[in-house]
Amino acid sequence: MNWETVIGLEVHAQLKTNSKLFSSSPTLFGASPNSQTSFIDAGLPGVLPVLNQKAVQMAIQFGLSIEASIQDLSYFERKNYFYPDLPKGYQISQLQRPIVSNGHLDIELDDNRVKKIIIERAHLEEDAGKSLHDAHPSYTGIDLNRAGMPLLEIVTTPCLSSAEEVLCYLKTLRQLLLFLGVCDGNMQEGSFRCDVNLSIRPQGQTTLGTRTELKNLNSLRFIEKAIEYEKNRHLDLIESGLPIIQETRLYNPDTNTTHAMRGKETENDYRYFPDPDLLPLIISADWIARVKSELPELPRQMRDRFINDLGLSSYDATALTSSPEMADYFESTVAIAGKANAKPCANWVMVDLAARLNKEGKELADSPVSAAQLAGLLQRIADNTISNNIAKKVFEALWNGEGATADEVIDKQGLKQITDSG
Ligand code: ADP
Ligand code: MG
Repeated sequence: MNWETVIGLEVHAQLKTNSKLFSSSPTLFGASPNSQTSFIDAGLPGVLPVLNQKAVQMAIQFGLSIEASIQDLSYFERKNYFYPDLPKGYQISQLQRPIVSNGHLDIELDDNRVKKIIIERAHLEEDAGKSLHDAHPSYTGIDLNRAGMPLLEIVTTPCLSSAEEVLCYLKTLRQLLLFLGVCDGNMQEGSFRCDVNLSIRPQGQTTLGTRTELKNLNSLRFIEKAIEYEKNRHLDLIESGLPIIQETRLYNPDTNTTHAMRGKETENDYRYFPDPDLLPLIISADWIARVKSELPELPRQMRDRFINDLGLSSYDATALTSSPEMADYFESTVAIAGKANAKPCANWVMVDLAARLNKEGKELADSPVSAAQLAGLLQRIADNTISNNIAKKVFEALWNGEGATADEVIDKQGLKQITDSG
């Protein structure tokens, strides 16, 4: 029998606000334990949460960018459970009316196939704290810095069917969030986390199989491996006539296996109810229209513009829009060097500059060669003052701070090429 893998994803994107979802505590990463914890985050009795407007705005931005519906009336609910890093005994989340519903994100796979991924909902919720198991030899510590951090939980329908599609979706989603400026996308620091729900079914069957949920996946590589492992585990069980138990499982990167963490809770277990401390959230049509008019250019649109306007290949346009920093650098260079230099500019940014940055483990933001300097260099190649080969020397000199502009380096080092045939 042919089996088909069915996957639905829940991504938790930490929103890039300055303060938490319901308190004024700062949201910087890496602060010492409990130094960014207010009475509200600690759940002391009598304190009241106040909703962060910026987080709502970011959720609207995201919703509009995936052509979803924005609820004009939504609620916050309490999701009740006990855990040491959750002092309130509940997490404030949204169940009945998520702020964003029914959107989609198109992903482009390696074979150029485009697939529409349906995002059924995205809702706002607060993060929990962290248990620190290795901060003390015999105790577990509790750090509430993360408690109350704003999260947007983005949930797809079970419409993905392979690890390749999952990775492609995650990259596309992360890129979108980066371009919107609503999330820093850092998987190691946990600002972009993903739970994978997976089941299998005979090819052609329409009903869904029993799923398991995989947690603890903090890199794309682990996600890919966990999907492979879990798919095969399902297959083995079914082929041996054993049942699949609906449960939450943890991926262990050391053994490349998954193990049961807890039985799957259902909604009823959490006793969701509307949080009486928070008013219903009413979003006016005006606000939505304003956010829409201020939406930045999205990666797909930018890519198309690079192809149609600047004559770049689809490969180059895709690479240059892989991050907002890269796109920005490229655009600033072209703005000075001129559209006619777009193609060589793409090459210099993607090949020479990228290789040089890579060699020193530097980010584009710390590039010693600025967009303006690179543009100056491109102009001297274009007007034949220097050859491509000499340009590499000039680039190296600019990198090492041996001149403020390409012209200065060319002058100082006598690099002007003579093309007079006489
Ligand atoms: P919960 O919030 O309890 O995890 P949801 O019903 O909200 O459950 O679903 C969470 C995710 O699981 C969604 O992305 C959904 O698409 C996916 N999912 C649900 N059923 C299946 C299934 N049988 N196989 C694969 N994925 C599934
Ligand atoms: Mg879940």
